[in-house]
Amino acid sequence: MIGQKQTVDILIKHGTILPMDSSLQVIHDGAVAVSARRILMVGEAQRIETLVDPRETLDASGMLVMPGLINTHTHSGDALFRGLVEDLPLESWLEKLWVVESKFLNPDSIYWGSQLAYMELILSGVTTAVDMFWFPESLVQAAKKLGMRVMTGPVFFDSSITDSLNHQDRMVRGREFINEYLHNDLIIPCVQPHAVYSVSPENLQQAGELAHEFGVHFVTHASETETEVRNSIRDFCLSPIKHLDRLGLLGERTVLAHCVHLQDDEFELLSKRGSVVSHCPMSNLKIASGIANVSLMMESGVKVTLGTDGPVSGNDLNPWFTMRLTPVLQRAIHKNTVLLPAPLVVQMATQKAAQALGLDDQIGSLEPGKLADILLIRTGKAHSRPVYDPYALLVYNIGREDVDTVLINGKIIARQRQLMDFDVQELNAHINQISQQVSQFLGIQMS
Ligand SMILES: [Zn+2]
Repeated sequence: MIGQKQTVDILIKHGTILPMDSSLQVIHDGAVAVSARRILMVGEAQRIETLVDPRETLDASGMLVMPGLINTHTHSGDALFRGLVEDLPLESWLEKLWVVESKFLNPDSIYWGSQLAYMELILSGVTTAVDMFWFPESLVQAAKKLGMRVMTGPVFFDSSITDSLNHQDRMVRGREFINEYLHNDLIIPCVQPHAVYSVSPENLQQAGELAHEFGVHFVTHASETETEVRNSIRDFCLSPIKHLDRLGLLGERTVLAHCVHLQDDEFELLSKRGSVVSHCPMSNLKIASGIANVSLMMESGVKVTLGTDGPVSGNDLNPWFTMRLTPVLQRAIHKNTVLLPAPLVVQMATQKAAQALGLDDQIGSLEPGKLADILLIRTGKAHSRPVYDPYALLVYNIGREDVDTVLINGKIIARQRQLMDFDVQELNAHINQISQQVSQFLGIQMS
């Protein structure tokens, strides 16, 4: 109606808007209007201000406004064990971790541990995470408490570390879990068998059938280390990728964490199958797995997204560090300065990740109709000025300390770097209690 303004919940105005839509436009002095959880308008502030009457206004002067980041691989509950398993080869590293996990992980400890991880992720600008961890019901409760969007679901692992479930129990529980969250805004169900070396071919296949039955994603680790590939060839006469392919488990809804050690013909294979790779450079470097050939993957048409991995292997859940490592590693190993330009890296953490997870109709860019997962990033500090190129700034300068405000699902979850409506003291008390028990068990003096 002419002259009458539309009431909206939130108006973000006077920021530099990076909608991360296909045009990669930059809107200077822009605005985003949010109503009923969704983005209603994106454009110049001057125009949008004449159209809406906001209940709440966020002044984004001096800030970049962009979609929330999507972390396609983590293990939130391991936040309880950060810094506990250090300086070991992956296989002994996993063994030590699994001893502590089997002793201390239960639905309650995971509920608190994953809250710690989600708190870190949100304050780092991650609004959606693919989270593989035991007791996904606990992850769901933690995600709901913080208002975080999480893709998670039944984990498959043949030897029982934390729960006493056998494979058939996991299938039954998994089906119930997926059914319950199939149409949920914040919780996106998926099926998560751990890896080809920890789940038998039969059980992998059944997990694949479960994912297929509901049309949800199938998330697993693949080709992370040379040893894993060697053992897979020993046990199955095939690399992990080809083993998964033979089982019919590579498809458009398959997310493979790592893919550091691909055989020459597997780049084409992953591209042909439309499978998604979650590149986790920090974890791969720290536990000496190697450097994934991301540029060749992308050249071959593989969908590559970015992950932090868990707080034990990558230690901090810092998506900005992941974004920065991604192009610099490729440029160094290929001796080529034009690989992975900054706008592409930001796309990999937003729009391309949403597409790869089948969520691009809902999240990943700031476009009318999408759910409002939005970051306000402060610039203008010594390390973040001048802003000639906002994409280069995001990849090479911005850190999580610059994430000022985070909206998820149209709700302000963090503001001025503080979580809203969340009892941090209560969380700290639980984390302290659990970590004291862990340190006593291992005879470690905690600082
Ligand atoms: Zn992992």
